[in-house]
Amino acid sequence: MARILIVDDSRTSRRILKGILEEFGHEVIDEAENGEIGYIKYNELKPDLVTMDITMPKMDGLECLKVIKHKNADAKVVMITAAGQKDKMMEAIKNGASEFVTKPFDKEEIGKVITRVLSE
Ligand SMILES: [Mg+2]
Repeated sequence: MARILIVDDSRTSRRILKGILEEFGHEVIDEAENGEIGYIKYNELKPDLVTMDITMPKMDGLECLKVIKHKNADAKVVMITAAGQKDKMMEAIKNGASEFVTKPFDKEEIGKVITRVLSE
């Protein structure tokens, strides 16, 4: 069971992801709708894991990943990607992303990925 922060600008995505994570017994401690708020909440809450959407207004998921990892090298950040974002996925790997989950969400995939990242 982990304390998880969801960062995603889509209310629908946040709701679906929260439901899945809770089904696996995790606690969604907060949500943020852009990278700026996500970064502030990360520092306040120090979650065990962050799910990070890539495309968001104000500060996107790549920028937010970079600023989180800059001061928290061991932060566990799982990127949420859509089809056609291969370049951004590569950049996220370079910047320390733990794993990827692709939209549309697949419950079993998310369960496996989260378990794997938490066990690292
Ligand atoms: Mg988005």
